[in-house]
Amino acid sequence: MAEKAPEKVHAPLPFQAGEDGALLINGQRALDIAARHDVPVFVYDEAILRSTVSNLRSALPAAINLHYAVKANPFEPVVALLSGLVDGLDVASAGELALVRQLVGPQKPVSFAGPGKRDAELAAAIEMNCCVNLESIPEMHRLAAIAREKNTQAKAAVRVNPPFDLRGSGMRMGGGAKPFGLDDVQVPDLFAQWPSDALDFRGFHIFTGSQSLSASALNDAHKNALHLALELARHAPCFPRSINIGGGLGVPYFPGDQAVDAQQVGDGLAHLLASSKQALGDAKVILELGRYLTAEAGVYLTRIVDKKVSRGTTFLVTDGGLHHQLAVSGNFGQVFRKNYPVALAKDFAGSSQDTEVVTVVGCLCTPLDRLGDEVSLPVAEVGDIVAVFRCGAYGPSASPSGFLSHPQCAEELV
Ligand SMILES: *Cc1c(COP(=O)(O)O)cnc(C)c1O
Repeated sequence: MAEKAPEKVHAPLPFQAGEDGALLINGQRALDIAARHDVPVFVYDEAILRSTVSNLRSALPAAINLHYAVKANPFEPVVALLSGLVDGLDVASAGELALVRQLVGPQKPVSFAGPGKRDAELAAAIEMNCCVNLESIPEMHRLAAIAREKNTQAKAAVRVNPPFDLRGSGMRMGGGAKPFGLDDVQVPDLFAQWPSDALDFRGFHIFTGSQSLSASALNDAHKNALHLALELARHAPCFPRSINIGGGLGVPYFPGDQAVDAQQVGDGLAHLLASSKQALGDAKVILELGRYLTAEAGVYLTRIVDKKVSRGTTFLVTDGGLHHQLAVSGNFGQVFRKNYPVALAKDFAGSSQDTEVVTVVGCLCTPLDRLGDEVSLPVAEVGDIVAVFRCGAYGPSASPSGFLSHPQCAEELV
């Protein structure tokens, strides 16, 4: 059996149980929601989405512009809700851009970052009043040529691959050789070629990393990013109107993880803004977040189809799996698989004395398809609903839904 280490637990979940002990999602019984679908369903709690944004806003200085990185959860009702709560949206494809523009109208700030933007995507960005975060000098010239063809100017910012990254970050996207942005040392050369007739310089985008739970690491990354942008601004065709310093706030998915101290992140930003006041002028400072805004609000509900024992391990086999939620299986950027929080929807309160240690798996014919390894749950039966928490980001849209040709999952905002 497992070695005796001090028991690590999951950070507290923002959900309640009803009087019968069953899981509630924004006041609705998870069992009733699951019963509306004959496939697994991702349920996003509107009240938690709203409180996540408002709690964060109250920790951040008022001058910080909060953007939502749509790729974390592109489910239309979620994007529609969040777009009313944030100052701008960041997209990573023309598909996300079209979705956003159909929801928010032409004036809401939208920026488009990502390597390998095709000409049609650059053209769409110009047509939809979207700022393109340039990833290379050739991309700058392509955007300029398309803008000239359209007899207009394109809004463009420069994405910088900084010489530092976010310490303790799960997925590093800055420092070293990267396909994202231009190395900081290449930026003066880009500005020397800036096609002022065709491109309207808007500012900088410096993304240093993702999924950090350390406020001090985030404080350092935000400070380094802002200072680098102000330094590079000396070479720019005009002073930046906005400086996107990335985001990076993570989610406590695993046992022992603690939620990031948003107040400490906000205090660091307040200090940074105050000490850079002169240099910043009226440039907007943008924080762009994906998972932090949506993960906590999402619950994946899947039904137990079979229960079996193999050499002493009890398996709960569900109708869900990694084709809907790859990250829970440990195969989305993790080195060692660890458990997300898992519960039985009928007894979220954990009032049953009758518990057992089980391994929860999906229905895919691969050993990779695990939803929970050796978790202690109330005794479950076929037909019961398993709830997996912190599933509101990088779920269906980041999972290999075609793998094994099982049905697609459903999604609901409640
Ligand atoms: C993916 C991405 C984000 C969002 O990352 P999260 O970890 O979900 O917060 C933000 N900015 C850029 C440029 C990204 O590519």
